[in-house]
Amino acid sequence: MNKYEFQTEINQLLDLMIHSLYSNKEIFLRELISNASDALDKLKYLTLTDEKFKEYEFDPKILIKADKNAKTLSVIDNGIGMSEEDLKNSLGTIAKSGTKNFIEQLKAQKDDKAQNELIGQFGVGFYSAFMVADKITVLTKKAGEEKAYKWESEGGNGYVIEEITKPSDGTEVILHIKEGEEEFLEEYRIESIVNKYSDHIPFPIFLEKEEEKDGKKEIKEEQINKASALWRLNKSELKEEDYNNFYKQVFHDTEDPLLHIHTKAEGTLEYTTLFYIPKKAPFDLYRVDYKSGVKLYVKRVFITDDDKELLPTYLRFVRGIFDVEDLPLNVSREILQENIILTKVKKAAVKKILSELKKLKNKDFDKYKEFYKEFGKVLKEGIMSEFENRELLLELLLFKTNKSDEYIDLDTYISNMKEDQKEIYYLIGEDYEQLKNSPHLEEFNEKGIEVLLMSDEIDSIVIPQIGTFKEKSLKSVTEVESDEKDLEELKKEYATILVKIKEELKDEVKDVKVTKRLKKSPACLVVDKNDPDFQMQQMLKQMGQFDNLPEIKPILEINPNHTIFKKLKESGDLKKIKEVSHIILDLAKLN
Ligand code: ADP
Ligand code: MG
Repeated sequence: MNKYEFQTEINQLLDLMIHSLYSNKEIFLRELISNASDALDKLKYLTLTDEKFKEYEFDPKILIKADKNAKTLSVIDNGIGMSEEDLKNSLGTIAKSGTKNFIEQLKAQKDDKAQNELIGQFGVGFYSAFMVADKITVLTKKAGEEKAYKWESEGGNGYVIEEITKPSDGTEVILHIKEGEEEFLEEYRIESIVNKYSDHIPFPIFLEKEEEKDGKKEIKEEQINKASALWRLNKSELKEEDYNNFYKQVFHDTEDPLLHIHTKAEGTLEYTTLFYIPKKAPFDLYRVDYKSGVKLYVKRVFITDDDKELLPTYLRFVRGIFDVEDLPLNVSREILQENIILTKVKKAAVKKILSELKKLKNKDFDKYKEFYKEFGKVLKEGIMSEFENRELLLELLLFKTNKSDEYIDLDTYISNMKEDQKEIYYLIGEDYEQLKNSPHLEEFNEKGIEVLLMSDEIDSIVIPQIGTFKEKSLKSVTEVESDEKDLEELKKEYATILVKIKEELKDEVKDVKVTKRLKKSPACLVVDKNDPDFQMQQMLKQMGQFDNLPEIKPILEINPNHTIFKKLKESGDLKKIKEVSHIILDLAKLN
């Protein structure tokens, strides 16, 4: 018998589990069943693809046994099993990235519901069993190998592994139920948990039941789940509730999804896809190492849930299933990427998801806005990569404007355009309120021209790349030349003042000009057409690239109709100009 220590992260996680006041302890069973199902998937795959397992007799199933006298609950599968190495790697360390981060978040969460969501999203897996057990014993034999092992732990003091004899392949997880958690030994309780979380696990789950027959006690196994691949059923057989339950079970969410998209294609390309748009963003949405949300099946056989190329990154919030008919089962990952059939299915999936979102936008705009608030930013990333469905993607974008506090789309913008207006105008800045008060809008407001206001970090990178939408080009209002008529006259009138201000502010601005774009404000700063705009400068700064750029000075534009300048011009007091210059610059900076 050998003794081992847990990895530090596991000790922290165990500590949280053991002392958890977490109310939703029942999820431990979901986790154990999900592991058993994974193990069955893996062996099923081998029996279909590996010569060595061609003759293997495989009748996959999961069995749950509760023993009230011994106070043990066992989850038994005849799946792939674990070798000694597997045991140390799988039940002694956590390979998942982001674990530390997750544990910190979990510790900080005092609120039960929030903890619940976190645990659900991250999936604490096997270790969640320590919420209800003070000791766990695992008996396991790996398919195709001779030796079998027992793994045992009481949580706190590491674990032990010893060799045992076990005739059948697979794994038996035995929980020694804690004092006070005996409810999990009750048949009705077990059945209701399985029903709630594991109904659609694609393998049968049996519960061992004791029955009285003619005064004699009899033990029998009863199947307690549906075990159907729900996505293979016909739409007409399925209710909204079925779709929602399946989603919550399979994708570990506590809330119903916002939308489901179920497609069955027949003919030359045969496949089924079932996609879900969640209500809330998954916790790793903005992490580089986010987990893929879609699973690939071939003819109902699970292949992988770790292929991030099944959907483009800008759709990484989508959860769902691809089940493709005409693919070989033993495809390697490299071959998957290049497979023509899968490429076609993936393309069709993107188009379908985008068109369904468009449908939702037209049919239920409030619901669409809910979606957009949660995932709009991610969707925008697609502007850089989505060429095939470019227009469709652009149609999905929403913006607030100088005229509307409510979101509108680009089509609405176009229908609102002035008769002689040729371009789509936008302004990018920090936040909506600040943008609305921007002096750059004064001329547009006066003329009643609508301007899209954008304040997502990503906007300054992606929006300029749009170029045109439905033959209208997009243009930043900071790049729009103001009406030059009569400007020559004004330039002359203000020449002395302009020179003086420029001299005073030469360290901070590139040039000082009169402008007609301002109606109320005294002055504003604009960027030279050839320089990167303000937002872009900030992004570059954040990415640490600013050091290599020459210093970029803005141009100060002044409003000749503002009383300050009118008075200055009348008084001709050059000393005053000197004083006022800095105040004007500060005001312009504020905007
Ligand atoms: P996850 O399932 O997300 O990988 P878990 O903590 O639930 O994380 O399980 C850890 C690992 O332990 C699994 O990845 C698997 O390798 C192994 N494991 C757990 N239960 C079983 C089982 N019943 N049969 C085979 N392997 C298992
Ligand atoms: Mg698991």
